[in-house]
Amino acid sequence: MNETEEFIAIDDLQERLADFNGCTIQHTGWPCNSCFHAMELPGLKHDIHDYWEAVLAVRGDYGDLEQNPVLIAELYHKLGA
Ligand SMILES: [Zn+2]
Repeated sequence: MNETEEFIAIDDLQERLADFNGCTIQHTGWPCNSCFHAMELPGLKHDIHDYWEAVLAVRGDYGDLEQNPVLIAELYHKLGA
């Protein structure tokens, strides 16, 4: 499977983050910066902050951030494990 072609529904990602963090205070129901950065997700390939930037990009409230679907897919699957 080509990871870069995988489509992750934003609603599904948001739901997994909400369930994992128990925090939905930011924007339209996303975990806050502190909770996100405190997540314990063993085996992530990059710094947690890189995933945060990817999440901000898909949220769309920071228009100048580059989309990173590979990190989003990795995060999504870690949260579902
Ligand atoms: Zn929080």
